[in-house]
Amino acid sequence: MAASMHTVFIGLGSNLDDPVAQLQQAWATLKAAPWCREAKISSLYRSVAVGPPQPDYINAVAQVTTDLAPLDLLDALQAIELNQGRQRLIHWGPRTLDLDILLIDQEIIQHERLQVPHPYLTERNFVLIPLAELAPELRLPDGRNIGDLAAQIGNQGLTRLA
Ligand code: AMP
Repeated sequence: MAASMHTVFIGLGSNLDDPVAQLQQAWATLKAAPWCREAKISSLYRSVAVGPPQPDYINAVAQVTTDLAPLDLLDALQAIELNQGRQRLIHWGPRTLDLDILLIDQEIIQHERLQVPHPYLTERNFVLIPLAELAPELRLPDGRNIGDLAAQIGNQGLTRLA
C-alpha cells in the first residue's frame, strides 16, 4: 500500500556565505530529493534580522508533497542544513542555512524535537508573506487564514527581490 502523501510548507533562511546562493542550493537539493514531489517555491525576500545584530537574511517558503513521516522529514532537512555548513554557535545568531517545517497538512505536533505549526509562524512577516504568495487560501489548524494574517502583519523590514 502506498504511504499517504502530505503537503508541507518549509521556511528557508540564510544570512551567511552568499545567502541567495545558499537558498538556491537548498532549493535544488530539496527538489531533487527522492522523497520530494510537486515542489514549488515563493519569491526570495530580504529581511532585517531578529535577535543579535547580524546581516540581513534572505528568506523564502517552499511547498512540497512528500510521503515522509514528520520526524523523518525533520531529519532530512537537518541533513541538508548540515551539508551546507550550518553552524549553531549563537542562539538566533547568523546561519548559513535554516530550514523550518512550517505546516504539515492540518496536523498539530507537539514533540520534543518538532512543533507544527511552527511556533513563530504567525509572528514573522518573512514567513507569512512568502507563504501567502504560495497559498493565500491556506488555513492554520485553528482556522485562521494565511492571506489575512499576511495582510495584517505588514511588510516592515521585508523586501521582495526581483
Ligand atoms: P533553529 O535553531 O531555530 O533552526 O531550531 C532548530 C531546533 O528546533 C531543532 O533542534 C528542531 O528539533 C527544533 N524544531 C522544533 N520544531 C521545529 C520545526 N517546526 N521545524 C524545524 N525545527 C524544529
